[in-house]
Amino acid sequence: MPFTELGLNPDLRRALAASEYQRPTPIQSEAIPVILEGRDVVGAAQTGTGKTAAFVLPILQRLGSPGSKVRALVLTPTRELAVQVESAARKYGRFLKLRSTAIYGGVSQRPQEEALKRGVDIVVATPGRLLDLLNQRLVNLAGVEILTLDEADRMLDMGFLPDIREVVRRLPVSRQTLLFTATLPAEIQDLTRSIQTDPVSIEIGGHRTPVNAIEQRLFPVMPHLKNDLLLHLLERETMRPLLVFTRTKYGADKLHGILERRRFKAACIHSGRTQSQRQGALDGFRKSEYDILIATDIVARGIDVQNISHVINFDLPNNSDDYIHRIGRTARADKAGMAYSFVSPADESVVRSIEKAICKKLSRIHLDDFVYDGPSALKSGHANLPTTQRSSEKVFDRSSFRFGGRSSGSDSASRTPFRNAKAGRRGRADAMQGRRTADASGWVEGTIGLQTEQERMELKQLQRRIFGSSFPQRKKRDRASGSTSFRSRY
Ligand code: AMP
Repeated sequence: MPFTELGLNPDLRRALAASEYQRPTPIQSEAIPVILEGRDVVGAAQTGTGKTAAFVLPILQRLGSPGSKVRALVLTPTRELAVQVESAARKYGRFLKLRSTAIYGGVSQRPQEEALKRGVDIVVATPGRLLDLLNQRLVNLAGVEILTLDEADRMLDMGFLPDIREVVRRLPVSRQTLLFTATLPAEIQDLTRSIQTDPVSIEIGGHRTPVNAIEQRLFPVMPHLKNDLLLHLLERETMRPLLVFTRTKYGADKLHGILERRRFKAACIHSGRTQSQRQGALDGFRKSEYDILIATDIVARGIDVQNISHVINFDLPNNSDDYIHRIGRTARADKAGMAYSFVSPADESVVRSIEKAICKKLSRIHLDDFVYDGPSALKSGHANLPTTQRSSEKVFDRSSFRFGGRSSGSDSASRTPFRNAKAGRRGRADAMQGRRTADASGWVEGTIGLQTEQERMELKQLQRRIFGSSFPQRKKRDRASGSTSFRSRY
């Protein structure tokens, strides 16, 4: 179906032609006519499928000409997504006179206050800052006709549900409500029942399956060798622009430092950076000033950069939904893309849940020219030494030893590092506490010397798996104060 048959007015069609969009994506074909009719919509579509235009275009058309109040409100989980959606509103509305602004935290409130004072028709906001402004009576939402929740599942994951409900309480009861989500967990269904009226459900292509054009591969590797493997892949393959996901801010910063020291053009984005650093990193990546962007999950859904060649999950996310979101950053708008995930034995259960969610067994890649056992070449400062020299050094490394049926570090052992994942996991956990343990095959694992940072991190990771947080005390406090440990870690 061409854009001309969707009922969009000539000004919007001109803007689409200027954006060089040839035809609507499936979510656009389905959603635009229904939203134009004024119906509430629940839209579930794969990530990167053109969801933003699917709601922004009909909103612009329904608003028509500028008014004196805020008449459309879009809530997004992240600052980056707020900026992106607002710039989409300006792009598609370039031949209209409607005014829009983005409201988000982490930056001075003053320019946002001034934009609101000058008058806007469309506000795109993250819930926290919007509530701050509402509480200071600096924004009035009594005239909102259309509410949109973008990436609603992500907002719920991030603990924004109470904030969303608070914002909804300040809106007129009679309004159109649109909800877009990549996944449809039960909580989303509860939310739609409470804030929407007889919504039309639009689900494109099975919301749980990532875009088909993405080729996905797993790279089994021990945690301490992930940096080496990344550098090895960067040498071996052309994969720029590259987006790398780490689990923590600390991990992102550390990897950023390693890549910068090797003169890669890399930027880093996570919640511990200032808003201008975050935006600078994202803009620089978009303009190809940086080839590599290292990010945590907090921004996984706000990143719309065209032509991302590869996504690498340096650390796997904790669940399959986040995996789908992350890899959806490549293969945007029907382009091909590659998604690599580094997996260690502790990730096996997440891998199983991802494979179940995407209904597909992922291929495991073993590189013949990479040394899978022994110390990290980065730690010993010999990252560029030939592999033969590196492997001989492992004998003297403190990080691990194995005694048993075969000689330590035998080739066959190195080629099947996850032969006995459960026993290995137990062994490493015990080793980190300064003990030695034997697995079922009689092998003994342990460590010599002081605990490394890598091992401390791995222990924290295990604690997080067991307790839901590496800081059980802190989690309790966070819960009491209404925030979640998720926000502080990412
Ligand atoms: P979204 O899923 O909204 O983040 O959009 C993903 C990307 O697809 C964005 O870069 C859009 O500019 C692009 N896009 C959206 N609609 C179309 C279309 N009909 N044709 C080509 N590209 C599109």
